[in-house]
Amino acid sequence: MSKIVIALGGNALGSTPYEQLELVRETAKPIVDLIAAGNEVVIAHGNGPQVGMINLGMATAAEAKAIKSDMPFPECGAMSQGYIGYHLQNAIGNELASRGMDKEVATVVTQVLVDENDQAFSHPTKPVGAFYDKETANRIAKEKGYTMVEDAGRGYRQVVPSPKPIDVIEKKAVEGLIAQGCVVITVGGGGIPVVRKDGKLYGTPAVIDKDFASEKLAELIDADQLVILTAVEKVAINFRKENEQWLSQLTTSKAKELAAQGHFAPGSMLPKVQACVQFAESKKGRVAIITSLDKALQALKGETGTRVVLG
Ligand code: ADP
Ligand code: MG
Repeated sequence: MSKIVIALGGNALGSTPYEQLELVRETAKPIVDLIAAGNEVVIAHGNGPQVGMINLGMATAAEAKAIKSDMPFPECGAMSQGYIGYHLQNAIGNELASRGMDKEVATVVTQVLVDENDQAFSHPTKPVGAFYDKETANRIAKEKGYTMVEDAGRGYRQVVPSPKPIDVIEKKAVEGLIAQGCVVITVGGGGIPVVRKDGKLYGTPAVIDKDFASEKLAELIDADQLVILTAVEKVAINFRKENEQWLSQLTTSKAKELAAQGHFAPGSMLPKVQACVQFAESKKGRVAIITSLDKALQALKGETGTRVVLG
């Protein structure tokens, strides 16, 4: 039996609650296939559109004085974990039941430790939430201490940093649930970023890359495999060019060489390849795979996907 962390991409969830509820029914099938094949499965996922929607809705309502306060970014992240977790729990639970499999599915609201001295905090890069005119943006920046930047001629937006994950606070709880045979959904959206000050944890407005957070989780719970499920079946070099070439296997050294040559787009494929390299290098025998959701089981059998191995 293998312990597998799977990281679901945006294509597994869609962008509205209705679309998401429809999509997760399909998403649940290949996930339950992995469980039915005898694997211990832990599920991580992205939250870009969902946390954006929650943040935007709350900020708009607060500006219109329809609600008493805005919703801080860590709280928006927590809401997105609960909301997405509920849909996944529901869909995976239903799929398990339909196959006569007696297993519980649980979502863990997860805090992920970041370093307040992480370089990312002095260079916020991720735009989130509503667009404002300059005057409103300046006022909000003053009121809340947010960093606001002009976003491609569309107005001013809050930007938050994207620090690296150091630790998953609830890792023992996750391990305990796995040991009891539960299917666990955790580190949603990369986790709620927290910093430690004087022994206490505090939520901080930031976005942790879900591919890096999934990798960290996989290391911490001693998973055998990290499986990053996205919209493409394999990783390519010369992606979308005439000489595009799909890769079945990548050694860690080759992956780094190709990354340095710019074959993997920053913000999409690059963090996935980097996460896979880190996982494969973290302990002998650990394997990371990038493939599409519908090919997950086949990829685990070695029939497709891009496999990243130490070498
Ligand atoms: P996710 O929501 O799963 O994180 P992303 O859009 O962030 O998805 O990243 C996956 C996308 O990266 C693929 O759908 C593909 O369009 C793109 N991509 C960029 N470079 C490559 C590459 N070299 N090989 C394959 N896909 C790539
Ligand atoms: Mg992505």
